[in-house]
Amino acid sequence: MVEKYDIVIRNARIRGRPYDKTFDIAIEGDRIAKIADKIEGHGGTEIDAKGRLVSPPFFDMHFHLDSVLTVGDPRFNESGTLWEGIEIWAERKKKLSVDDIVSRVELAVKYHVAYGTLWIRTHADTTEKTLTTVKGLVKARELFKDFIDIQVTAFPQDGIMTEPDEHPELMRKALELGADNVGMIPHNEYTREDAVESIKFAFELAKEYNKDIDGHVDETDDPISRNLEVVAKYTLRYGWQGRVAAGHVTASHSWDAAYRYRILPLIRKAGITIVPNPLINIHLQGRFDFYPKRRGMAPISLYLKNGINVALGHDCIMDPWYPLGVGDMLQVLFMAIHVDQMLGWTDLFKALDLITYNAAKAWRKGYEDYGVEEGKKANLVILNGLTDVDVLRIMGPPLYVIRNGTLVADNTGPERELKVFFKGKWEVVNPYYEKAIETKI
Ligand SMILES: [Zn+2]
Repeated sequence: MVEKYDIVIRNARIRGRPYDKTFDIAIEGDRIAKIADKIEGHGGTEIDAKGRLVSPPFFDMHFHLDSVLTVGDPRFNESGTLWEGIEIWAERKKKLSVDDIVSRVELAVKYHVAYGTLWIRTHADTTEKTLTTVKGLVKARELFKDFIDIQVTAFPQDGIMTEPDEHPELMRKALELGADNVGMIPHNEYTREDAVESIKFAFELAKEYNKDIDGHVDETDDPISRNLEVVAKYTLRYGWQGRVAAGHVTASHSWDAAYRYRILPLIRKAGITIVPNPLINIHLQGRFDFYPKRRGMAPISLYLKNGINVALGHDCIMDPWYPLGVGDMLQVLFMAIHVDQMLGWTDLFKALDLITYNAAKAWRKGYEDYGVEEGKKANLVILNGLTDVDVLRIMGPPLYVIRNGTLVADNTGPERELKVFFKGKWEVVNPYYEKAIETKI
């Protein structure tokens, strides 16, 4: 009997298997039904991968969807600094509404899916007192849940103990409104004591609501911003190993050797995932240096060598802090491996782990179902290259993206269009920023 499947992918290299062989992959319902050298039978949809690489899709583990795509509103950031960005955002924030957020998120998630990212962990600013950001992002998470998975972190942008009568309560309210994770920003508190108190508060809250922790930690070039050690201590004390992510940690780029020697084993013991944001870190850090300028990105290969999990975030796309980006995690990875000098030949074949398996581990939910293997959820991307090396050389969108057994992106059109399957129909996603045409140069 000739089998019939929903989708059959032919002649694919599969990441994690020997690259001197190609395979056929059959998908039935939302699962990978079969992987074999040659599959008899046919699919309702047949895709010839022509030897290209199939990988599980990507994660964006640190992203600010509340500010996404606001670039130029009310004005552009001319210095390119974090501080000018904060000033612009303070003005833009006044105009936030749930609808404004949801409509921008809609385009941002289409970009992500078109470029092969199916999971985004986003931050919602809880010091914005109406909690419009939390309401907007929780609503977007629900509206787009058949298209992409979003986790919302309650993120106290201006600190927790900076306004002790209000900010802790806003964090709690954010969780009541449906936020998934507890955030923190200890390096933005007024003092070291307040920073420690804010971390303790975050862990108490996480325990009370049984939530994971996803902090902005030590996002500064100041090497004595040492909040990560406190996060590690409380992770162990609360038994939260494997449930804590520390974003940015740019201070760790500047740690001295004696401190590194002491702290790295502690972070490993606590099972904390470090989440650098290479595009934004290389752009915003090192701003107090003349030349030579520090790179200001967490030392990825050093963490990995010490048995510490590392995943990556895009952080921003076209907002007051970062004017570029189109939701392509390969751009993020490309920057990461250059900044941290991870272009050794064997390293190139491990790089994709930073936006796939390492991230899946920190995301936790569905981890056992992640990967291109028989019986697992049919989530995969067909990338534009024969191996990891081509993928990182050639870059650009994948040819196809499949989510839970459904083809959700097809970028093979003759016009190089990005096409996504959104709310039951195919549509072209416009990647161009037309307002830039008006710029006087
Ligand atoms: Zn961030």
